[in-house]
Amino acid sequence: MTAPRAVSTKIDNIAYALTLDPERRIVADAAILIEGDSIAAVGKSRDLRDVAADETVDARHFVATPGFVSGHMHISYAHAVRGVFPDDLGPAYLPSVFRLQAAMTPEEERLTSLLAVTELLKYGTTTFVDPGSTKHVETCLDAYQQAGCRIVTGSHVADMPNALGVPVYETSEALALTRAAIERFDGALGGMVSAWAMPFSPDCASADLLRGASEIARDLGSRVTFHHSYSEDARTRWIEREGRAPTAYLESIGALDERTLLAHALGISEDDVSIIAQSGASAAMCPSAAAKSGAGMTRSALLPELLEAGVPVSLGTDAANNSNLIETMRSMYLAAILYKDGRQDVSMIPAETALELATITGASALGMADRIGSIEPGKLADIVLFDTRRPEWRSLLDPVNNLVYSADGRSVHTVIVSGRTVVRNHQPTFVDEWDLIQRVQEIGQRILHRAGVSFPSRWPLV
Ligand SMILES: [Zn+2]
Repeated sequence: MTAPRAVSTKIDNIAYALTLDPERRIVADAAILIEGDSIAAVGKSRDLRDVAADETVDARHFVATPGFVSGHMHISYAHAVRGVFPDDLGPAYLPSVFRLQAAMTPEEERLTSLLAVTELLKYGTTTFVDPGSTKHVETCLDAYQQAGCRIVTGSHVADMPNALGVPVYETSEALALTRAAIERFDGALGGMVSAWAMPFSPDCASADLLRGASEIARDLGSRVTFHHSYSEDARTRWIEREGRAPTAYLESIGALDERTLLAHALGISEDDVSIIAQSGASAAMCPSAAAKSGAGMTRSALLPELLEAGVPVSLGTDAANNSNLIETMRSMYLAAILYKDGRQDVSMIPAETALELATITGASALGMADRIGSIEPGKLADIVLFDTRRPEWRSLLDPVNNLVYSADGRSVHTVIVSGRTVVRNHQPTFVDEWDLIQRVQEIGQRILHRAGVSFPSRWPLV
């Protein structure tokens, strides 16, 4: 008996393939051969002319990129109530979030997550870290399977009282939950799901919990992520409380190593950069959320310095209610322009670097660069095709500049994850999008009512 033959697809005549391979080759008039879930060949169309495939896609007007990677994006509840929070809410934001989240049923969370994943995929993000905010992961697996995304999940835990509303457990219980989530979900759905340890933040996790989470990650071959240092103010408060800066604290308690992904990493200093680089840890930065919350990103989130020190950095957005956009492409754009402006230096974060952050460097920050992040034979087939028959893509002379500075998710025509086409002709293939949107709208109105959360419009609503 022979094994069933893997389905193959040839994407042919691609105007430009931005491979992000080690030489950073841009292949003009390219072809990509996908066999099963992986990339079998990449080259000039003429060199692959004699290679047959079950299906051939004519991509003569398309630019191909690797699927985008988001290192920090809460997919759980936020789409149901997106935009409800005034932009000057400040510290009252997170407690409201947790109230709304607690009011959500498993089925509501599944549908809301499916809409979040739909938006992510539709605009090219194929891999993302949901940092522990999903309450009903078991139920939401259905949504991840339906959509075909690549997701890192887990259960966020705390063992110290906090004003944020993060659920508090005994330390041993928090560690048991952490271990159970990794054992249950890591590698689920044929490897599309990874599960990591996710203590919420050193602000509400003891040294024992942070260290224990690190040990569990090492023990199970997994990783750790948590919210690290939200702003310069938070750093100052932390130093007053602990007598040292948060990054030095993490190092001193043995909770910073090559398995650690530090989310946000705002309010860090040159010393912190050295500590992070020496530890082998990585970072996930969320420029849209940082800028919207007035965190002073270009002053205190030392992205250029982290890259200079060799720290892999991924871009994220945080949630659909504080960012509120969730497109990795828009984070890429902001990373490329904010530092030029803030530092008054046009050499900061070139377009090519911004694209690396959203793809191969981001994959490296997640410990996945051996599988995703570039278009190379042997890697999983996570590919985005942009339709350049649009004004924002013209004239098409330098595809990297056009991609980073003028395009956005609107021109994403096709998205392939692990060889499965999940977006075709700008539409998700796995869901009736409008039906889902209407259901999530109803869920949002119900949750706001149930949780008793509301904010009056600042303009008269007549
Ligand atoms: Zn977050």
